[in-house]
Amino acid sequence: MYPARIWREKKARYRLVGVKCKKCGAIYYPPRPVCEKCRSRELEEVELPRRGKLISYAILHDPPIGYRDQAPLIIGIIELENGIRVFAPLTDVDEKDLKIGMEVEAVLRRINRKEEYGVIPYALKFRPIMI
Ligand SMILES: [Zn+2]
Repeated sequence: MYPARIWREKKARYRLVGVKCKKCGAIYYPPRPVCEKCRSRELEEVELPRRGKLISYAILHDPPIGYRDQAPLIIGIIELENGIRVFAPLTDVDEKDLKIGMEVEAVLRRINRKEEYGVIPYALKFRPIMI
């Protein structure tokens, strides 16, 4: 038997979950406590499509503290299939292969870092979809 709690947490980690404002319908990823548009605090979790395309990216050769082991860190703006734009790291891609408009999908990647403050060293990143 797999304990229900662990199963739920595992499932949550593999999903791309954002939040949706109950008042104005704005969607955010990563989740945030307050709606930027209408200041409402009534936000509910929504599952987002895992696929999208790369709109823009930046390569950080000297990323902020906490991300240095991931240098060079490639941060992308990804437009998901529902039109929502998210800001997330890219993985499994060489700088030279990056193309605006390339199809990407969300994957779970272990972060090569010691577990700190009880934070699970996994993160959702996006990688190119191999055709
Ligand atoms: Zn709102």
